[in-house]
Amino acid sequence: MSERAESLVRDNPFIELRLDYLSQPLTAIPKLRSLLEVHPEVTFIGTCRRATNGGKFKGSLAAELAVLRKAADCGFPLVDLELQSAEALKASELGDLYDRVGMIISHHNFRSTKGLDEQFAAMTEYPADFYKLVSTATSLHDNVVMMKFLETNSAKYEMVGVCMGEQGIISRVLGVRAGSVFTFGAATKGEETAPGQALASELRDIYRIDMVDQATQVYGVVGDPLSHTLSPVMMNSAFRREAVNAVYLALHARSMKDLMACVRDIPIRGLSVTMPYKQEIIAALENSDPLTRQIGACNTVVRGADGKLYGFNTDVAGILMPLQQRLSLTGARVLIVGAGGAARAAAFGLKGKGAEVFIANRTAEKGQALARQAKVKYIKRADVAKLEFDVIINATPVGMNGSKQSPLEEKELNTKFVFDLVYNPAETKLIKMARAKNIQVIPGLEMFVQQGARQFEIWTGKPAPVAEMAYVVTKALERQAASEASEEQQAPAKKAAAKKTVSKVAPKKTAKPAKAKRKK
Ligand code: NAP
Repeated sequence: MSERAESLVRDNPFIELRLDYLSQPLTAIPKLRSLLEVHPEVTFIGTCRRATNGGKFKGSLAAELAVLRKAADCGFPLVDLELQSAEALKASELGDLYDRVGMIISHHNFRSTKGLDEQFAAMTEYPADFYKLVSTATSLHDNVVMMKFLETNSAKYEMVGVCMGEQGIISRVLGVRAGSVFTFGAATKGEETAPGQALASELRDIYRIDMVDQATQVYGVVGDPLSHTLSPVMMNSAFRREAVNAVYLALHARSMKDLMACVRDIPIRGLSVTMPYKQEIIAALENSDPLTRQIGACNTVVRGADGKLYGFNTDVAGILMPLQQRLSLTGARVLIVGAGGAARAAAFGLKGKGAEVFIANRTAEKGQALARQAKVKYIKRADVAKLEFDVIINATPVGMNGSKQSPLEEKELNTKFVFDLVYNPAETKLIKMARAKNIQVIPGLEMFVQQGARQFEIWTGKPAPVAEMAYVVTKALERQAASEASEEQQAPAKKAAAKKTVSKVAPKKTAKPAKAKRKK
């Protein structure tokens, strides 16, 4: 712990040491004394959370008190005491702790963001340097509840408020401007001490939490599910590069109602919209541009100066731009595989540019319906191999997230260009097959960057830093591919190790006396 803290002090003047993660905290704490002495510039918090309160410490209340006293005596300026522990301690024991050290009184609700006022009233029965109230976000709007609570109470109390859970990211980033005096981030990936906790480095470098103030405009990507989205990395980099005082968050909305309540109350300046809300959101907006209405899908929302919400579709530009950089679209023969939202954007956009468009889709009726609406041709899958195209566009999710499938076979790729809209992974099976046939490829990353660049321009009125956006996404995809490759490499060894362990312990587990003992 001491070594880990030592490696973090340079960038982190404020560090919580989770003493409950030590197997023998009482014996270990004196060994932290030199760390505290050498770094008086760092504020260290000593926390020993008991298992009953969501921590790792299995000892009694008296043992927790002994650990916190020892921490105080070894130089910790602050210790964290859970409300339940404070309530159970005698006044004399509590008084003794107050005499020794600064105090954070904390309360964690692992289920919901309900009853904040009652919980806080119980906490303020005890004097403290800081009050830390942590709840769990079960909706996006819970973040609004937490931030309103902070705004109401933070003038009177030094306090920290944050929502746990994947949906709590809004409070982790914006809580500081609502009155939270600090927030919590994990030191390294895999070492998060609470569900949904972001890395401290992400909070600083991606979300620029140190810069967030009342003037910071809030944007986000909304979808369900929303794991592994690269939009926050790309858009926050763009804001940073162009010195725009804005932050962009991943908003995992489980319902349209929750999303719109959050958009209204924060208030959010702009949204990137992804599955499954691209169609549904149109009805919730005040107005949309004609192309968005024609396509029936919106991927960009902006709040105008009048406070109203307007919808746009930048997927069209995201598809057209990479193609126009390579060929003239007038008269170009383009096959679109798929008939969903992305295919609709491609069909209407390409038709508008004078291309000869063909649709092939797994479900014939959906493909035919799109072909009718966009006034393009529908072809059966069996006919694809018989025809020649200038461009084939994959607008299906086939090939995404390690599926290693291709939407078309090699013999069907009779084309000059293959444009795979799937961008994660960068090298899909389709892209590899096309390369092997010397067909020029356009990776989905180009669409991702271009649709994001147009969003940036709609929101800020500034030209987007396209090269910077492409660079950060490429790097993120490379890091992801490298970590997946190393996981794949380790998988056989892990499997073998697991087998060994099982075979060693199995005889004991199946032995009768051991079974009886376990039952007892
Ligand atoms: P969508 O609305 O769900 O449409 C998916 C389409 O793919 C449907 O036509 C569906 O056919 C077809 N499909 C799904 N699974 C299939 C399978 N196993 N085999 C054959 N066809 C299958 O999705 P979307 O919003 O259009 O997005 C499609 C893909 O485009 C996404 O997965 C994403 O990778 C990509 N995309 C990329 C960007 C970017 O910025 N690069 C932006 C948007 C989308 P049925 O009609 O038969 O169901």
